[in-house]
Amino acid sequence: MDYADRATIAGPATVFGQGGIGIVRLSGDRALDLLQRLFRPRRHLSAFESHRFYYGAIVDARGDLIDEAMAVYMRGPHSYTREDVVEFHCHGGAVVGRRVLDLLLEGGARLAHPGEFTLRAFLNGRIDLSQAEGVMEVIGAQSLLGHKIAVRHLQGALRERCDALRELLRDALALVEAWIDFPEEDLDPATQDGIGVLLRQADEQVRALLESFRTGRVLRDGLGVLILGRPNVGKSSLLNALLGSARAIVTDLPGTTRDTIEEQLDLDGLLVRLIDTAGLRESADLVEQEGVRRSREKIAEADLVLLVVDGHCGVRPEDLAILDDCGDKSVLLVVNKCDLGNCELPISLAHLPRVEISASTGEGLGSLRRAIREMFVDPDPDPVRETLMVTEVRHQDCFSRCSQVLARAQAALERRESLEFLALELRLALEVLGEVTGETAPEDIINRIFSRFCIGK
Ligand code: GDP
Repeated sequence: MDYADRATIAGPATVFGQGGIGIVRLSGDRALDLLQRLFRPRRHLSAFESHRFYYGAIVDARGDLIDEAMAVYMRGPHSYTREDVVEFHCHGGAVVGRRVLDLLLEGGARLAHPGEFTLRAFLNGRIDLSQAEGVMEVIGAQSLLGHKIAVRHLQGALRERCDALRELLRDALALVEAWIDFPEEDLDPATQDGIGVLLRQADEQVRALLESFRTGRVLRDGLGVLILGRPNVGKSSLLNALLGSARAIVTDLPGTTRDTIEEQLDLDGLLVRLIDTAGLRESADLVEQEGVRRSREKIAEADLVLLVVDGHCGVRPEDLAILDDCGDKSVLLVVNKCDLGNCELPISLAHLPRVEISASTGEGLGSLRRAIREMFVDPDPDPVRETLMVTEVRHQDCFSRCSQVLARAQAALERRESLEFLALELRLALEVLGEVTGETAPEDIINRIFSRFCIGK
């Protein structure tokens, strides 16, 4: 993308189709001129005032009516892009919006690239790169909590945290640089301590951000839950009970749920993706083998494994073999069929968090839902309120590199290595933090981020 291109851009701000209204958006120097040419306000005006909605008609060059519509002019810099922005709120439908867009293109506007309105907001300094990513996150949010996190990113919470971190590192760098000017003198202990404190503070904050990623990602993208267990322990029944509807086929014959079924569930705002599989079992049957292969693959994908055992018949070696396959995955032991009375569980399962349920009667299902949620999310009813969470792999990567640089810098300080080296590391950490907010992000990364946007955003 050519960042110097200041052409007036036009794009559909809504999906043109069956909706009640369709919005066409314009940004750039020519926006007001195009508004004046295309739009006839119902009441005579001497000029369009900024941020006011006008009712009127959209007409083509011959004066033919295209639509009755509302129009708004937002004078820059008080607009989404900081440029002059105009929006036409037309009737929905496949034709109207397209027609208005064509008129704007004929009038000299250029069709906007995907994400170009937001790109301009970024290039014009209204938002930073993490906020632009927040825009995408808000649009793509699939659960209440995911949306809450996204809104905080949109408001600039990540930028604020990066600014605070950079403040600490700049203070440390200033102290280091002051001593570089006196090469014959050793760093005095008080200054060394001062730099150490600043680096530790920054390091702690970066670590907290890194740790938030596990929960943050789950809250945004949903928790992948894999239901595993040997045949007939009640996996399909559990899936149905959780979903509250009979979507998977329940049967008395072992091994009938051959294919994988994925369903979504909302656990008080947390999106859960439930995966029922053919189960991990040894079998000569080819299709069953395929099921086994798939389940094993799914273990890696899952954030949590629900290991279902039959509490009435008791635990068998096959159950323990399945647990072995789970490696270091989070496992929640679901002891099913508690309506029939439970046997003693072997000591080898005692370390697992456990919930007793009956998929048939529904007993214990509430506890199971709570247990799943609390393994990943703070029991606080609003776990997102206070904490800033990292959800983007790109941000996680930046913070991870920043943390490595800070570790090297701290080691260098302790070993009293050259101050030049320390200064270099601090500048590197500052640069890495600038990648999150965009100041030092390479152009190809910026392009990649905006190319994921839809057109008109
Ligand atoms: P899967 O092979 O692990 O998917 O097991 P199913 O869900 O098909 O259940 C196997 C059998 O156990 C069926 O006859 C279910 O009705 C029965 N079953 C499942 N859960 C319970 C339960 O909690 N209590 C009782 N009594 N029977 C259950």
